[in-house]
Amino acid sequence: MKKLLQLTLTFIIVIGAGFISCTDSENHTESETENKVLLISIDGFMNEYLDRNETPNFDRFITGGVKAEHMIPAFPTKTFPTHWTIATGLYTENHGIIANGFTDPELEGYFSYGPQDSPNDERWWQGEPIWITAENQGLTSALMFWPGSEASINGVHASHYKDYDGSVPNAARIDTVVSWLDPAGAVDADFSTLYFSHVDSRGHSYGPNSPEVDEAVVNADSLLGYLLDEIEEKGFSDRVNILLTSDHGMAELSEDKVIFLDDMISLDDVEVVDWSPVAMLRPEDGKKEEVYNALKEHEENYTVYYRDELPREYRFSNHERIPEIIMIADIPYSITTHSNFEERGIIAGTHGFDHREPEMATIFYATGPAIKADKEIASFESVHLYELMAKILNVNPSENDGDLDVLRHILK
Ligand code: AMP
Ligand code: ZN
Ligand code: ZN
Repeated sequence: MKKLLQLTLTFIIVIGAGFISCTDSENHTESETENKVLLISIDGFMNEYLDRNETPNFDRFITGGVKAEHMIPAFPTKTFPTHWTIATGLYTENHGIIANGFTDPELEGYFSYGPQDSPNDERWWQGEPIWITAENQGLTSALMFWPGSEASINGVHASHYKDYDGSVPNAARIDTVVSWLDPAGAVDADFSTLYFSHVDSRGHSYGPNSPEVDEAVVNADSLLGYLLDEIEEKGFSDRVNILLTSDHGMAELSEDKVIFLDDMISLDDVEVVDWSPVAMLRPEDGKKEEVYNALKEHEENYTVYYRDELPREYRFSNHERIPEIIMIADIPYSITTHSNFEERGIIAGTHGFDHREPEMATIFYATGPAIKADKEIASFESVHLYELMAKILNVNPSENDGDLDVLRHILK
């Protein structure tokens, strides 16, 4: 009798749970029809690029939506740390992607985006990106490139993603994403990403003030026009919220503004985890004070810190992957060695500097059914985008460092 009662109870609970999850997914179906999110990054897009170019499609986009004075990236202002902050809502010290290339005292191997390394091993990627939050709550994510998009998180992948291939033409990336988002298509994605690298590449090769960068910006404008036209033609502009942003700006460098590390310390005393413009130094045993004191004594055009005394605003102290000595160059200085300088010289432009420098500031524009029109907003930190995206997608955010109140006012 007791057993029968137990069985009946179990039956009621299972049916009940089924009912609840069914109601849940009905809610999702409803939100799917209204609140898709397309997150776009045009890598290395300095905030001021639009001021000096004719960009009718950016104008068209901005007129219908929101424009931030600028967006403040995470520190250091390198592609992988900053994109991962946007995706997870975590500061660098809480997500562990401390540079584009680094080691971990506990993990074998080297993290870098080069194919020879293993950047897709999920042990590198801490925190939960928005596409996994969405997947875990019954939505569909489809990603056309984003740092970390190829890694699983606790065993879960986005439903659709592509292995990074920089040679895929930008228009073809757009075609794929439009077909993924199209409510009449097979995927009908709720969340999608698009990534373009051409503005960043030109910025490195020719410097941010070059005509080559202007040409890339005008090209980005045409790509945006193509995307908007395609979405309009397929008839779902009223169902997708587009967040158009970037990971950092770009600073012009100079062959005369160079800091030679080997003039100040012996390179045998340190492992240089990252070089420039933020040198991350892991001193050999017993060498920490000696290295720090030598760099402090010569401190000019850079600032050197022990990891643990780095000002709080960097949010770059509390992770075992962060080396013990951090040296941050002032714009436009590069940190190098004599032999490296003789061999390679200095590239025209780079990023990585203090995230609060105006040159590192980047863009944020947004438009869509959930977003107010014709609104200019104050600058904000990129760490808050995760909460915004979770709100639009109607999913519960995972633990993160952002605050929805910073951007809630852009929502209708
Ligand atoms: P950076 O070296 O910081 O200027 O980073 C920009 C470069 O990162 C791009 O030109 C690409 O080569 C590379 N990159 C960007 N996204 C990815 C990705 N998802 N996977 C691998 N490499 C990437
Ligand atoms: Zn970048
Ligand atoms: Zn770059």
